[in-house]
Amino acid sequence: MSSTNGYQSTIPLMQNFVNGKFETSKGPIIGDVTNPATGEVLKQVPGSLKEEVDAAIASAQKAFVSWSTLPISKRVSYMFRFREIIHRRLADFTAMIRLEGGKTVKDAEGDIIRGLEVAEYACGFTGKVEGMYEKNLATDIDMMQIREPLGVCVGICPFNFPAMIPLWMIPIAIVTGNSFVLKPSELVPGSAHLLAEISLEAGFPPGVFNIVQGGKDTVDALLDNPHVKAVSFVGSTPIGRIVYQKASMRGIRAQCNMGAKNHAVVMSDCNKELTLNALTAAAFGATGQRCMAISVAVFVGESIQMLPALVQKAANVKLGTDENSDMGPLISSKAKARVETLVNSAKIQGAKIDYQGQAPSSKGNWVGPVVISNVTPEMDVYKEEIFGPVLVCLHVQSLDEAIQLINSNRFGNGTAIFTESGVAARKFQSQIEVGQVGINIPVPVPAPPFGFTGSKDSMWGDLPFYGPTGFAFFTRPKTVVSRFAW
Ligand code: NAD
Repeated sequence: MSSTNGYQSTIPLMQNFVNGKFETSKGPIIGDVTNPATGEVLKQVPGSLKEEVDAAIASAQKAFVSWSTLPISKRVSYMFRFREIIHRRLADFTAMIRLEGGKTVKDAEGDIIRGLEVAEYACGFTGKVEGMYEKNLATDIDMMQIREPLGVCVGICPFNFPAMIPLWMIPIAIVTGNSFVLKPSELVPGSAHLLAEISLEAGFPPGVFNIVQGGKDTVDALLDNPHVKAVSFVGSTPIGRIVYQKASMRGIRAQCNMGAKNHAVVMSDCNKELTLNALTAAAFGATGQRCMAISVAVFVGESIQMLPALVQKAANVKLGTDENSDMGPLISSKAKARVETLVNSAKIQGAKIDYQGQAPSSKGNWVGPVVISNVTPEMDVYKEEIFGPVLVCLHVQSLDEAIQLINSNRFGNGTAIFTESGVAARKFQSQIEVGQVGINIPVPVPAPPFGFTGSKDSMWGDLPFYGPTGFAFFTRPKTVVSRFAW
């Protein structure tokens, strides 16, 4: 039952999780969680008040004292339990992600499995402990460098991977000895709630992991609190920049993964069927709401003749949210209106709409897949991150021209080339200024041991999420020089 500031409703209200307990916020309701496939209101989300955010941080600060001094093997054993329970509850996550996010079964399973893999990687922390020690660096002087946890770290999450992205943050922050306060997306808060339940069952000491619900004001309260030592943000570029600037002004570290415009270069010597299937899956899978979705196809030379076959593939994309579906609805009516406006702008600005699929229902936030050609870099549909099932197609004459186009783009999250030429692939991989490159792979997301290495306006910060840099982000080096001989 929603009950905040005297407001009564039969719709459930999302709760905060502070000091090991679920709590009802006294803040105002800031929005509804709806089923994107039907428009049905499922829950409401409060905007946690500053004092509630401060209380969550205080609880994390208190927990940090004993958590950070617990033997590493003990902290890791909590993570093993956490991982085990997530694994047992995969079906709960899949159902939650489908309900709140409108994902297909495959996409929802991928969301939690990719997150689970980071928890598994964090379980290996005992084998990754890195310190340095040298005896007699000067006469009778020894030197060591140790890595210590930071303290209270916070995470701010987007809507599009409600399980995976919190799990990019929480396991590594926690095994390295920090305590954590998570602010889930107000559009899909249910998966974080499941993680809180799991942290209880895994026996995490109260305060090690906390959740505050909310939007902008809650984020501001988190960033303004002087006890917060680091912020992990994933979301759009305009908001990520604000978060990064605020963190930097306070002298705390930030890792901000942000928006994208990912280009796939199609060479005429590519394997045609593999390339067409890859482009279709990468452009329309997850309804284009992946930061690594391919949203621009760059056809080089003769490869433009593949366009009709690509349109045919788009027409075959199955809309729905069940096991056999390829693509679900968009997250919100606002996202739907934005996609439609950008597609219309392409028409007005002289592009050609080669295909625009029909929405299967007038309820919910359905749009069909869209393929647009004759696009130029000046058009809004090229400049903006659309974050929907829209593939814009450009035609260039050479690989050099394709590389120059991509390098001129302000985003640098992912890119791909489709070719059978090792020479073209090698040139592309070395000259392209994008952090994650696929060669005959459309969505080159790095596995947990490597770290997520977006660049330019897609990633601000020096230490990418997960991988070795993830451990480095959540720890600080300290050097001790000692003499015990006289
Ligand atoms: P968003 O920027 O709207 O929201 C992200 C978070 O910021 C949410 O928790 C939200 O409550 C909070 N927020 C919103 N407005 C704020 C403000 N003014 N001040 C402070 N906090 C604010 O992003 P979204 O729509 O939820 O997610 C989609 C975006 O995330 C896309 O741009 C996508 O490319 C990006 N994304 C990037 C990656 C990556 O790894 N690069 C991964 C997933 C998503």
